Amino acid sequence: MPVLHLEKHGRIPDEEACKILRFLEECYGRFRPGGLDLVDVDIFENDDLWHSHMAAERRRAGVTSADLDDAFIVAHDAWTGVPRISISLERKQDMSQLVWDGALRHEVGHSILHGALEYYVLPTPSVLTKAAQEFPSLASHLRNIVYLLALSVKDAEVTRLVLSNGHVEDQVAYARFVMEATEQDLQAWDISSIAAEARVLCLVGRLKDIAPAMVLASRPEISCLNLGEVEESLEYLPQELRRALFETMTETLNHLDKDTFTNIQTAAAVSVAKIVEPVMRTSIPK
Ligand SMILES: [Zn+2]
Repeated sequence: MPVLHLEKHGRIPDEEACKILRFLEECYGRFRPGGLDLVDVDIFENDDLWHSHMAAERRRAGVTSADLDDAFIVAHDAWTGVPRISISLERKQDMSQLVWDGALRHEVGHSILHGALEYYVLPTPSVLTKAAQEFPSLASHLRNIVYLLALSVKDAEVTRLVLSNGHVEDQVAYARFVMEATEQDLQAWDISSIAAEARVLCLVGRLKDIAPAMVLASRPEISCLNLGEVEESLEYLPQELRRALFETMTETLNHLDKDTFTNIQTAAAVSVAKIVEPVMRTSIPK
């Protein structure tokens, strides 16, 4: 069981902090991670405090991918070399207790599987570098593409780990919550019609949103979440792109038995073949 080092930012009721720590301790007790000594737990009163603190931490750690914190309910990083779970209590108001529990357990999974700096400072897979040579407008977006692809792989790995510990119900609730298309997703897709590389970013970003759901849909013996629901969450996309996302995630999951870095290479190769090249080559109608 790792030591949980709590840091509060803003006014955090003691009972709320205790509740979260007890929940995390129970998770670690069940997962029994070997070799994980310390986990930082940062709890924020609201999103503003969270954003400003995390922005400073990103700068200090030299993280160069875009600030995509809005995409998270609860977040995990290891920029300091120590796994850290950050939690904004403001987010809790937007979701059910089951989704909240699912999110916390998901982040515990990250701290176990991806609790070292190397999982956050990822090299660019050569297949993406080559794609950027063919399509130069991609070059300035490579860091973000790698970051988003890595998230989709890591989220799939975490979902598998959490499921293997028997937590299905809260993972289904969490997966449904994160895959739902937000107003931001719809707007981003609308705006992306101006440039193919913007479409690539939108699509790769959606891969991470559907990753947990795709893992659950591949386990019908334990999970009630089905592919039809995933398809619904992508219904604003043209049919061929929905299929491209499905195929990319399915093929990535089929090869998800290696280490995270190899899995990211696989996801990159599949994504380039099924998403990046087709989108960059043709202007597919919306
Ligand atoms: Zn995650």
